[in-house]
Amino acid sequence: MQKSYEKADHFVADEDIVESLKSEASAVSPETQGKLEELAKDVANDILQEYGSHMSDAAKERVENLPKRVLVLEEADFSETLRAWLPKRQHVGDNAAGTYVLMGDFIVLSNERTDLEHRVSNFLSAYPEADKEIARQVILKMSLIKSLAHEIVHAHQDSKDTTEHDDLRAYYSRLAFDECGVAFITEEICNKMFPERLNISYHREEERRDYFKHLKDKYGEEIYDILFVKVPQNDEASYLEREAGILSEFPHEKKKDLGIY
Ligand SMILES: [Zn+2]
Repeated sequence: MQKSYEKADHFVADEDIVESLKSEASAVSPETQGKLEELAKDVANDILQEYGSHMSDAAKERVENLPKRVLVLEEADFSETLRAWLPKRQHVGDNAAGTYVLMGDFIVLSNERTDLEHRVSNFLSAYPEADKEIARQVILKMSLIKSLAHEIVHAHQDSKDTTEHDDLRAYYSRLAFDECGVAFITEEICNKMFPERLNISYHREEERRDYFKHLKDKYGEEIYDILFVKVPQNDEASYLEREAGILSEFPHEKKKDLGIY
């Protein structure tokens, strides 16, 4: 059976690398960075509480420090970091505000695309009497909750192979499944944590969520084991069989409908 996802060694960028990127290239003030880490922590806690039983211990351990590994960079540094750290095949859409970098286990967001620091400073100068802490918190949530939650959900999926595969079809089917599941969970988190937000959808997001909902009704809760790559010890075969069943729900036409190709 073709394995679409091999277990791969997970390289975690040294604490120093992340810290120096943060201190040398961060596009946001330390106060904004602090609020960002708080928000990331709230999101990660919620994911663990809701879906922790579907995750491997390794994945749970790995994400412990994730909230401290969220960076906001200016466009040039953002693109440069992605070029340096992302595997060749994983290209990020032009409009993506951020991405989870599996190879280094950190999340990078574009200051320009999220418009983050700009919004914060505009707001604070327009409303100097506002409570700065609260203003930062609300603006951050408004601008970032969706992209941040999306990337944090990805980070909770266990290691997946990022090397080149012969079986492109399986690779893209798994990618489509991941994006559907992550879109579905992201919406649940956002509804719970920030129901008063404006609901702006990205490309094919609703179709992806609806399709995951349909698969969840069909396969039950254990679909989350496959999404988070929880492979039972000594029974990889059953995992692969269940994964193959789910991936067979993503024929070419379906992937096209979901905007994955
Ligand atoms: Zn994604």
